Amino acid sequence: MADKECLYRHLIVGGGPGGLTAAIYAARSNCCPLIIQGPQPGGQLTTTTTVDNYPGFPEGIDGPELMARMEQQARRFGTNFVTGEVTRVDLAASPLTVWVGDDVYRSRTLIISTGASPKMLNLPNECALTGRGVSVCATCDAFFYRDKEVVVVGGGDTAMEEASLLARFARRVTVVHRRDTLRATTILQQRAMENPRIVFRWNTMVTAILGDQRSGVTGVRLQDVTSGAEEDFACHGLFIGIGHTPNTALFKGQLELDANGYIVTRNGTETSVAGVFAAGDVQDPHYRQAVTAAGTGCMAAIQAERYLEACEEQGVCPT
Ligand code: NAP
Repeated sequence: MADKECLYRHLIVGGGPGGLTAAIYAARSNCCPLIIQGPQPGGQLTTTTTVDNYPGFPEGIDGPELMARMEQQARRFGTNFVTGEVTRVDLAASPLTVWVGDDVYRSRTLIISTGASPKMLNLPNECALTGRGVSVCATCDAFFYRDKEVVVVGGGDTAMEEASLLARFARRVTVVHRRDTLRATTILQQRAMENPRIVFRWNTMVTAILGDQRSGVTGVRLQDVTSGAEEDFACHGLFIGIGHTPNTALFKGQLELDANGYIVTRNGTETSVAGVFAAGDVQDPHYRQAVTAAGTGCMAAIQAERYLEACEEQGVCPT
């Protein structure tokens, strides 16, 4: 049970693998942390089907089940859970303050693990077909497209990496890009262009996803942006690689963010504010894996506890 009167040692915002791992570590050090999970507890992994690359599960594990197990483990050691959307934070004052609507929580340290959201095309059945042919993670799902026909949307590093990875399994990968030049770094462009299984459709947009929840994705509608001509293109999978948005709107103006909105971390998980740490995708534009989120969650919990111990030794702890 969360206690609004309590001054917590560690408050964690975000209930994905980063936040839950931080909670497991903080709770095991007998710190009774508080974790505030958003309305979609478990984070991005709850929108995937089988997770085949999380170590320790040789047969794979369902994303939601993996997250449920992490939550169980965090609860076992005494983590306090609150479900709700954090609406405001004050990182300038000491102790640090977090609001969930009218409820106020105070803590000596804060671990931010609010994740990132993949950008979507915002097509009508995109949501319904996610996990049924629509994917935002080739690392998670490429394996299921052996000898299949797949389409990747995007012209940046993410799309090129997804296309190259998918080409190890798929019969053919068609990269659909809205312009005639790629934004991706040269090396990733070259790797994709030299791959005989990858073909490019330039100046083209995906304007509809074909299929239903029973059949899964059966194709996409492509539109040539110069001529306006449309064509239905048969495929089994649509990988959307048009970037991610880190969930950092709450921290703008209070923490140093990079040009893309990711929290800047130094020395592991330290942010620009003492006592505030960041873990997982919210500070990681590069790897974005459950296991790396869990790894940085562990680091954040250890660093937060060491920070407090150092304050306590010097007698300068936030009260
Ligand atoms: P990005 O660089 O922003 O590229 C997004 C791509 O998607 C662009 O080509 C963009 O087209 C296209 N796009 C955006 N919205 C679209 C829409 N609604 N419909 C169709 N196409 C759309 O994103 P990213 O590739 O995810 O990379 C983000 C950052 O992470 C970059 O800094 C990148 O270097 C880094 N990253 C690095 C690695 C690596 O080093 N291995 C891997 C992945 C990501 P336009 O080009 O026309 O704008």
